[in-house]
Amino acid sequence: MQRLVFLILPIVWMGSSGCPDSAPSEPPTDISVDALEDSTDTSVDALEDSTDTGETEEDITVPSEVLMNEEGPTNMLKPDEGWYRGDLHYHTNYSGDALDQGGDDLAIALAIADAWREPVWVEAHPEYAGNSLDFIAVTDHRTTEGLTDPAFVHDHLILIPGEEFGGAGHANIFGIADHIPHEPQGDESQNDRLIDAIEEAHNVGGIFSVNHPLDGGNWIWDTPNIDAIEVWNGPWAGFILGTTAEELEGGISGAGVENPFIRDAFEKGTDGHNHKALRFWYNHLTAGLHIPVLGGSDRHMIIPAGLPTTYIEVQKEADEEVSWSTLLQGIQDGATQVSRSPVGAQVLLQATATDGEEFSLGSSLPANRGPWTLNITVSRAAGGIIRIIRGPLLPPDADGRFHAEPDVLAELPITSDRVHGTVEWTPSPSGEWLHAMVFEPFLEEEPPEEIAQLIEELSIQFTADGLVAMAEALIPLLDIPVMLNPAQCDPALWEPWKPQCMPADPFPLATFYLPDNLERILHRVFEDGSPTEWTMGAITSAFLVPAITD
Ligand SMILES: [Zn+2]
Ligand SMILES: [Zn+2]
Repeated sequence: MQRLVFLILPIVWMGSSGCPDSAPSEPPTDISVDALEDSTDTSVDALEDSTDTGETEEDITVPSEVLMNEEGPTNMLKPDEGWYRGDLHYHTNYSGDALDQGGDDLAIALAIADAWREPVWVEAHPEYAGNSLDFIAVTDHRTTEGLTDPAFVHDHLILIPGEEFGGAGHANIFGIADHIPHEPQGDESQNDRLIDAIEEAHNVGGIFSVNHPLDGGNWIWDTPNIDAIEVWNGPWAGFILGTTAEELEGGISGAGVENPFIRDAFEKGTDGHNHKALRFWYNHLTAGLHIPVLGGSDRHMIIPAGLPTTYIEVQKEADEEVSWSTLLQGIQDGATQVSRSPVGAQVLLQATATDGEEFSLGSSLPANRGPWTLNITVSRAAGGIIRIIRGPLLPPDADGRFHAEPDVLAELPITSDRVHGTVEWTPSPSGEWLHAMVFEPFLEEEPPEEIAQLIEELSIQFTADGLVAMAEALIPLLDIPVMLNPAQCDPALWEPWKPQCMPADPFPLATFYLPDNLERILHRVFEDGSPTEWTMGAITSAFLVPAITD
């Protein structure tokens, strides 16, 4: 048994959720000034004046940059609103490493991806009602074999055909039927092969998205034609630092090429490998490469799907059926966001020009039409904050490298399960990008002693073997007999602070859900190398305004 546990240590990706979103919103009259005082960008004086008058809601002058409590559904991003949710990074036993580690055959993997809809599940976790996944991308390592398996079919999930491409450095290719090799063909250099592979993906209508660019398998390649970046792979885990300087320098000198966005991302992304990936994306935006964010669980085994969950907004006619190609068009349109779980934070962000024209999240905005009014609605993140971040478009330095200069335009408290407000944005004439991040409270209740110890163990940053450190900290919480024999899984024995076996996975090395507070620990936000009292809730794609030209 012990040997088996050690076998899974290096690869176990843990993560899960259970954020209650079904509670009705408070009426929009009750504003917490205390919470607002913590925010530096808010006019508390103006707010106190407006709340003390006893005037009706319409008479109150709401200062800009305050989010007011709002009525309305807290599950805002649903298919009938054009938003589809799913997991874009998912392995089955067609991946050699998943097979070796005790992963799941395609049919079971798909059943696990749809486990959030099981009646036994929803009965125990009612917050999941209406929050199951709509799509799953099957992305096995360097193979599309699973896509022709008769089991590659589902009555509910939209299946996106894909593969995880690459050797040194990984990327997901979505929307392909045939494997695209990463090994040089003919007299191609390795870097030429990658550029050509991206073109081959484009030629068949596919999308090429760089995965976990700084987790050790670093994307050192110079590939300006990529379509998207996975900024959130598995747990946000600010305690896992990702690549080391030696790995990065070794990769660059060995390959003889250097990605112009990676060195800055390595140096400034001080708060985990996903933070480095976020900075890698900022550097692309800074160069004017307007590509969206994606996320994925990178599940090989043990964890459920959708941790994190990616949302894609699609434009479609009312009666039009959504297919995987509609979803890929949504990614190309740039309207995506990543949330920590199927029931995590959600954001609606829209930009309105001075003439009233509205632009949806991820749009490229015309120059000369600002100042812009940003309409912001946030749900399922009560007690958290939303940060609106912008950065200028900049030229590269003398060595051809890009360095983003992100800046907080506004940081606003989220005082209830659904809040709404506006923020004015005047982009620089030389061009700017802007996006939003939601931070949810770290824990909602006092943890028991063994969990306090887990938090302690995950309060320092780990370099290359951070994943192992995380797995070692979590293994004592797993029910090993059930893990080895899931037939013993009994939902009546689920405990609020213990990983809960999921009946959808009937095979040894079962699948476990981590209750909400445990999951928040694994998505903890670090800042400047230290743990904060926040959990990563959601990350949106960006608006981009080009420079004004004469
Ligand atoms: Zn990978
Ligand atoms: Zn993967």
